[in-house]
Amino acid sequence: MSSILNADLHCHSVVSDGTLMPEALAARAKANGVELWALTDHDEIGGQHRAAAAAREQGMKYLTGTEISVTFAGETVHIVGLGFDPDDPRMVEGLLATRGGRGARAQEMSDQLAKVGIKGAYEGALKYVGNPELISRTHFARFLVETGICKDTSEVFRRYLTDGKPGFVPHRWASLRDAVQWITRSGGVAVIAHPARYRFTPNEEYALFTEFKAHGGQAVEVVTGSHTAAEAVKYAGTAREFGLAASRGSDFHSPDESHTDLGQLPYLPGELTPVWELLAERIR
Ligand code: AMP
Ligand code: MN
Ligand code: MN
Ligand code: MN
Repeated sequence: MSSILNADLHCHSVVSDGTLMPEALAARAKANGVELWALTDHDEIGGQHRAAAAAREQGMKYLTGTEISVTFAGETVHIVGLGFDPDDPRMVEGLLATRGGRGARAQEMSDQLAKVGIKGAYEGALKYVGNPELISRTHFARFLVETGICKDTSEVFRRYLTDGKPGFVPHRWASLRDAVQWITRSGGVAVIAHPARYRFTPNEEYALFTEFKAHGGQAVEVVTGSHTAAEAVKYAGTAREFGLAASRGSDFHSPDESHTDLGQLPYLPGELTPVWELLAERIR
């Protein structure tokens, strides 16, 4: 398959912090012309069988997916996994352990927000949660918009939920090595998600790509809803430099919040190896 393919290999459903069911996402992807789709919920694969069935129903090709939260050099990095076996116990147990800390973290976020006068944030966030194991900052953001404290979710992140702000609770996620190995040992390909989003020094970024490759990582998101055109060009260069394949995905969460809709982004640059070439055998 060539790089001219409407592949959308990054988005979220109610199984993590998206607002649509897997079936509704599949229908929306199809309507937007997506030819190859993957649902990549944060630290969760509970929607995979439903998503694959919905894709089949819509006549779309499908790859299994997830987006694993990792701590690297003191920063949270996201590693997308594609094409793995969703029933592989190493993947299932690894993600279960990763999800484990979210409940206590959410309680602590709520306690901190209470100290700056925002009461009941835990209960408020829970109303937006589809999967209790996956309570995330996004759900808090939706509650703070509902109360009128902020006008949109990006304002909530800026004022309350990022490092140094009152509702931010540092959290230790999976190691880079574990995340890459859960994916590769269950037959998938590991992908560095939206690399332009991390606040790394050039040395730290170099270390991320080097260690990722050493652990068996094979791809990087080049075209994503989180990259500008200039950032896509930059990371196309990084893909070539490190000999990584390239991925493409909207990172769609919600019709009301996401600026990039499913499948509505530029094609991959032609000179790169598309990640779906590495996964030809795993496409359903
Ligand atoms: P968590 O896994 O609980 O730390 O939440 C991370 C999620 O928050 C990401 O996957 C995004 O969906 C969302 N997020 C992070 N930063 C921002 C931001 N600046 N604006 C809007 N959403 C954000
Ligand atoms: Mn998210
Ligand atoms: Mn992400
Ligand atoms: Mn994402």
